[in-house]
Amino acid sequence: MDQSHELELSKEEMKSYGYRVIDTIVEHFVTQNEKSPVAMASRKEMDAIFQEPIPEFPSDPKEVLDFVTKNVLPNSNIVSHPKSYSFVPGPSNYVSVMADTLATGFNIFSGGWAASPAAAELEIVSMNWLLKLFKFPSKKGGGIFTSGGSMANLTALVTARRQLCGDDFSKAIIYMSDQAHSSNVKAIRVIGFKKEQIRIIPTDGEFKMVINKLKNAISRDRLTDLQPFCIIANAGTTNTGTVDPLEQIAEICKNEKLWFHIDGAYGGAAMLSKKGSKALKGIEKADSLTIDPHKWLFQPYEMGCLLVRKSKWLRDTFVEKPEYLRDIEGNPSEINFYDHGIQLTRRFRALKFYMSMKTFGLEAFRKAVSYNIEIAEEVECLLRKSKQWEVVSSATLAIINFRYHPLHLDLSDEQLDTLNQEISKRVVESEESLLVTTVLNKQVVLRMCLINPRTTMVHIKETISSCENFAKQILEE
Ligand SMILES: *Cc1c(COP(=O)(O)O)cnc(C)c1O
Repeated sequence: MDQSHELELSKEEMKSYGYRVIDTIVEHFVTQNEKSPVAMASRKEMDAIFQEPIPEFPSDPKEVLDFVTKNVLPNSNIVSHPKSYSFVPGPSNYVSVMADTLATGFNIFSGGWAASPAAAELEIVSMNWLLKLFKFPSKKGGGIFTSGGSMANLTALVTARRQLCGDDFSKAIIYMSDQAHSSNVKAIRVIGFKKEQIRIIPTDGEFKMVINKLKNAISRDRLTDLQPFCIIANAGTTNTGTVDPLEQIAEICKNEKLWFHIDGAYGGAAMLSKKGSKALKGIEKADSLTIDPHKWLFQPYEMGCLLVRKSKWLRDTFVEKPEYLRDIEGNPSEINFYDHGIQLTRRFRALKFYMSMKTFGLEAFRKAVSYNIEIAEEVECLLRKSKQWEVVSSATLAIINFRYHPLHLDLSDEQLDTLNQEISKRVVESEESLLVTTVLNKQVVLRMCLINPRTTMVHIKETISSCENFAKQILEE
């Protein structure tokens, strides 16, 4: 009888298929530094390879796998490449990749205690580790793993609104700096606030929220009968790594009875290093804190995290009981994470965090983060000694922004913008490095985010030297 409806491979087929997958991944890990970090392809090129009607009939499993290995994997940027400096790199680590494979292989449902006591327990244990690292209350505090920082920010804002606003939040106002990540505005809109309920506070020369302007905005809103409700502070902006004045903002939140959310999706992990934890002083005073383990805690996608001062806040916000879940209500200490966030069915994210921490030890993570911060400072020294380069924003939590600006040439800001844009374009098109621009103080600048522990000064010097060569070419044209 035809058993294809069971969607299975034989034991031998599964094994040889699986070994090939693992071999492909391991080969990628050991050769990725030599590959190009950039993959570019047009929609037309991709369509030519992939467009076809949904396949009605089976294909040979190995042929599908080979097709994917040949066409899918190389057509993606390698965000874990040591010369992938743009956006926020994803250095990842092999142990967590295998942990994800196990979690998916066993298809562990990580929503409720009854479905997997061990998955819930590992999320509780990981959360306790993180609460301690960020100096949050260890007994009352809590948190949840999410798909990423965007979902953590969204979860935080829903929680904040539930705690501080009644059903009518039409007058509630949220404050954040002009450097806040777009996911915050997105989250605010998703939960039904109007644009007029957001105050964008200007930043100073170092891209920190200006406290006086924040205070003025709050006073003005109170005077017009609006309800200041929440401040979102940056613990490491994505652009420059800047940390807002957290202690001062904490004080304002306390006096004004506002919710204090910190978006540490980029920089939170710097707590692992001495320098970073100094820069992040005050982070422990937040009501809610987003961190993003799939960035600077070296986890593969998707893994974000929200920490809160009181675990109870999450339960108050998200418990909703359908009748088919009533049989599995257990002891309240046995947490059902579907009660702490938006997702019911959840993948087992805690496993990769747990296994990589156990395997490498926190000390290795501390060294990696400290290395990243120091190498960015070394790059700053290098650039400051050069007659071609201008540092636009100092190395801060492993991010540095700079532009090509030769001393001997008298170029206007506009010419410098065009020049730096063109340098980035050529470097990326050469596929040697992924180095794109951002805009700071209306200037086009090159931005390096150096959170890959395998990036060395050799890689960086090669990239800088390619930039200089392209710059000379452009200036000669
Ligand atoms: C990356 C980032 C986010 C969004 O996180 P995702 O994991 O991409 O959803 C939010 N805030 C900051 C500061 C970030 O750097």
